[in-house]
Amino acid sequence: MKNEAMYRELLDLLTTDSASGKESAIADKLEIKLKELGCTVTRDNAGETFGGECGNLIGILEGELDGSVMLSSHMDRVPNGYGIQPVEKDGVLYSDGTTILAADDISGVCAILEGVRRAKASGKPLPRIEIIFSVGEETGLFGAKAIDVSTLKSRIGYIFDSPGGLGRFVNGAPGMYHLNVTLTGRPAHAGNEPEKGIDAGNAMCDMLATLKQGRLDPQSTANFPMLSTGSTSRNVVCDLASFKGEARSRDLQKLEDYVAYFEAHCNAVAEKHGVGIQLEKIQNFLPFLIPEDDQVLQVAKAASEKLGLDYRVEVGGGGMDANIYNAQGMATVGVATGYTKNHTKAEQLVLEDFFRSGELCQTLIETFAESCASK
Ligand SMILES: [Zn+2]
Repeated sequence: MKNEAMYRELLDLLTTDSASGKESAIADKLEIKLKELGCTVTRDNAGETFGGECGNLIGILEGELDGSVMLSSHMDRVPNGYGIQPVEKDGVLYSDGTTILAADDISGVCAILEGVRRAKASGKPLPRIEIIFSVGEETGLFGAKAIDVSTLKSRIGYIFDSPGGLGRFVNGAPGMYHLNVTLTGRPAHAGNEPEKGIDAGNAMCDMLATLKQGRLDPQSTANFPMLSTGSTSRNVVCDLASFKGEARSRDLQKLEDYVAYFEAHCNAVAEKHGVGIQLEKIQNFLPFLIPEDDQVLQVAKAASEKLGLDYRVEVGGGGMDANIYNAQGMATVGVATGYTKNHTKAEQLVLEDFFRSGELCQTLIETFAESCASK
């Protein structure tokens, strides 16, 4: 059944322009909504850490019970998220085909607002609720990275930011390294004396052609799609070449092993070609995997059963804010809100799932509340 208020809120936020580092317009609206909910609201300085205009929005709602739960979603969206014109067809919301829809992650924002409103309206005693609307998620989890989890009271959290139908929870995600290589050769006239040159482009091609990449094993992948050379003329031996990519694994040891292999491989090929090498390895985030008997999933399971949802727990393939919170000791899972094909123009949101996501959020809060003592 259509929840008109939730639908209006969704359309209003989808059509409010936002991007990573440009979240102010959404944040201004959400700040008012959080205050209306009775939250104490602060904005931190996360924006300054990545050149963004705006920090994370943190809303704290004190409760009657002795316990705290964190709820989060992100305010930014991938590019092509300006001027969105949502179109409803047969119970599914799409963009008009020229942009993304941004249900990733506005549907999550709306699920949290609706869930907390409903939980408050129920009149039941509630735990403390810590709401984080983060910035810069899509470009590098910058908002979550700026949060010091020790300043929060919650030790479990739900990130409403996962694709799929309602009842799907994401309990694991890979860790990731960014890997960048720059090779320096020696220029020489390509016609007169090519043997005096050292071809950096050729070394790069050899390096990549003999590198293990793509699907490495069931838990691990590597991808190097960004290649360039410093050359602008065809008659000079290439003296500068560089490439960038990433490696991911759900198994930290396998990830570390691949990075060590990558470094040894690149150094060996560089030596063979006589090129100089500069190699950068940046640990972007760590993998996580939450066991099914952890409280955060037990609450999710019980809440799903109360609502008659098809409860399922799956491991995701991308990094998310949960990677950052789990690394700091807060057990955090992803919650699906009904969107699929996110990050593309074909992104869609199943409205029945979306309308029930508010109820799911409410039920998660109330189920967690059952485990909390009175103060
Ligand atoms: Zn997202």
